[in-house]
Amino acid sequence: MGLTPTLEERVAFAGRLLDELSRATGLAWDELFLKIAVERLADERKGLLEEQAAVKKSRRAVCCECGEPYLPKRRPKANQRNYCPDCRASGAAQRAAAREYRRRKRKES
Ligand SMILES: [Zn+2]
Repeated sequence: MGLTPTLEERVAFAGRLLDELSRATGLAWDELFLKIAVERLADERKGLLEEQAAVKKSRRAVCCECGEPYLPKRRPKANQRNYCPDCRASGAAQRAAAREYRRRKRKES
């Protein structure tokens, strides 16, 4: 066997493993295949779901109005106010902008 096993060598190796597992468990090859595939898929699914949850968590922002976490479409800038869809729809952004405008106006005069 060379450094990189050929397809035939890998198939033969898998066959020996399956024979061994078959003897140890009393399960036929097709039953073993199914069992391994199902376990592998369950693992894969768990990993993907965890990955997804981590990505969602890292993209989460906290609304400046109601303080609830939400998933912004774009990453909010650090020096900018950000609002959840509900507060944005209720006009929180405009109210805050108006407050800010009046505050600056007062400072100027
Ligand atoms: Zn909000």
